[in-house]
Amino acid sequence: MATVDRRPGHAADTHEVFNQAVPIEPYNLYEADVPLQEALERENAGWGVDRVRDVGEVAGSVEARDHADRCERNEPRLLTHDRYGNRIDQVDLDPSWHWLLRTAVEREIPSLPWRDPKAGAHVVRGALMYVFGQVNGGVMCPVSMTYAVIPALREQPDLAAEWEPRLTKPDYADGALAGMAMTEKQGGSDVRANTTTAEPVGDGVYELTGHKWFCSYPPCDVFLTLAQAPAGLSCFLFESSDPGFRIQRLKDKLGTRSLPSSEVEYHGLRARLVGEEGRGIQTIIRMVNHTRLDCLIGSAASMRTGTAHALHHARHRSTFGKLLADQPLMQNVLADLALDSEAATVTAMRVARSYDEGKPASAFRRFATAVEKYWVCKRAPQHAIEALECLGGNGYVEESRMPRLYRDSPLNSIWEGSGNVAALDVLRAMVKEPDGLPAFIEECELARGSNAHLDAHLDSVKEEIAGLVDAGDTQTQARRVVERLALALQGSLLVRNAPAAVADAFCAARVGGEGGRAYGTLPAGVDTKAILDRALPA
Ligand SMILES: Cc1cc2nc3c(=O)[nH]c(=O)nc-3n(C[C@H](O)[C@H](O)[C@H](O)COP(=O)(O)OP(=O)(O)OC[C@H]3O[C@@H](n4cnc5c(N)ncnc54)[C@H](O)[C@@H]3O)c2cc1C
Repeated sequence: MATVDRRPGHAADTHEVFNQAVPIEPYNLYEADVPLQEALERENAGWGVDRVRDVGEVAGSVEARDHADRCERNEPRLLTHDRYGNRIDQVDLDPSWHWLLRTAVEREIPSLPWRDPKAGAHVVRGALMYVFGQVNGGVMCPVSMTYAVIPALREQPDLAAEWEPRLTKPDYADGALAGMAMTEKQGGSDVRANTTTAEPVGDGVYELTGHKWFCSYPPCDVFLTLAQAPAGLSCFLFESSDPGFRIQRLKDKLGTRSLPSSEVEYHGLRARLVGEEGRGIQTIIRMVNHTRLDCLIGSAASMRTGTAHALHHARHRSTFGKLLADQPLMQNVLADLALDSEAATVTAMRVARSYDEGKPASAFRRFATAVEKYWVCKRAPQHAIEALECLGGNGYVEESRMPRLYRDSPLNSIWEGSGNVAALDVLRAMVKEPDGLPAFIEECELARGSNAHLDAHLDSVKEEIAGLVDAGDTQTQARRVVERLALALQGSLLVRNAPAAVADAFCAARVGGEGGRAYGTLPAGVDTKAILDRALPA
């Protein structure tokens, strides 16, 4: 009987494979990222370059890419019972997930500034997060929460003494991971609506009864959570090994599919108070502010991935007799993507620096984190879809990794204050923390006199904010004002630090009214070649 030859290469009998891009990996994600390199030097983090380069090498390896692909394919499974019917509530994770998380923990991504709190440590950690986040956004969720939990935990020195050494240990087997469980079925943004109760049972221990509707990474060792205690909503720490902690099911999510996010119930779960009873929001907000920084960094990482992959593809694919990278309209699209990516990168590193600084910086930190979290996270999905389209049909296919980039891209905007909530938070901060806005504007003003578009934008934003307060019509304008503030800081950072080709194009298109609504609408005269040479050195 005749057999059909299915050996690899059989297709070559019918056609030659050509004009397909080669894989971008292996490449060093730090070496390829000039704006990141400059930002590290500028933001007091030059001492961390070797660490970031090392993570850049790992993150850009074929091995890391394959692990990221594999754990996306082999999604986590919840095992509620063992073979004998005992309740176990374990999550079965692909070995590739463990490879990625172990790599992040061993490289001190969750712990560096707490282990070595010198100037620039939050910037170096932010850069590690940004670089490794380009491999797999999902795995950075427990990494971020473990980093962010420390300032809240320090509100309770006995618990900090017990848990901080393990949470900051760069050892995947012996260290510990922390999560955060606030969101309930009836309300996520408005955590004051939480119905979970906490009953004191003596010795600072409480028994919690209720549920949480979203609880990412239930395998974490400890969680901070909120519950209604006698004196009001309070913050608690519990250990996931407590028999009162039950995982109901895993969410079937749009993206970050390798990351288990769950629904959980508390059945008399034993927990200990963190901070003062009745001041749960004030305590957990310390954690939330640090995870918001990571949402900003994560979305900057997403934009960097999209830019690098789109540009790489365009440099290897020809259409109509020319490389895509040489087609003028494609140059406009790619340069436009590169501008937002660079703006996001430098902003993330600047905001990260404010986490290294003491009192005067804290007003800027709180305000800038909320403003830029809103804007950079909001921009990421549009950026991802345009980067995907640069790869044509290949971009729509899973192996290109662009579908994963696109699926994952909206999450940071939902998490830790969805768009509206983040924007309203900025308005609230203008009233309740009156130092924030002036500190933010002062930083934007450092670029005054160098770019006419930016100067005019700064004047108009200040005027608009003054008018807003007078009119009392603040809420409907929250997104508009926050977007304009975010662009003011990004423009200011680029004018002061980036080459003129980048800064001028950014200011013309984003604040000067010369750009359009879709990517690829930069005005005539923009030096796209200079922007693209910088975005991904050949
Ligand atoms: C993948 C994933 C993982 C998550 N992991 C966790 C986790 O580990 N722990 C945890 O606690 N939570 C987690 N969450 C939950 C997340 O933080 C919440 O979904 C988010 O805070 C929004 O809350 P909500 O879903 O209840 O929406 P709602 O609060 O109902 O908000 C719905 C919409 O209304 C808007 N809105 C709310 N209030 C106002 C207002 N006053 N004015 C105008 N608009 C408003 C919001 O911006 C949003 O667009 C996760 C979510 C996702 C998607």
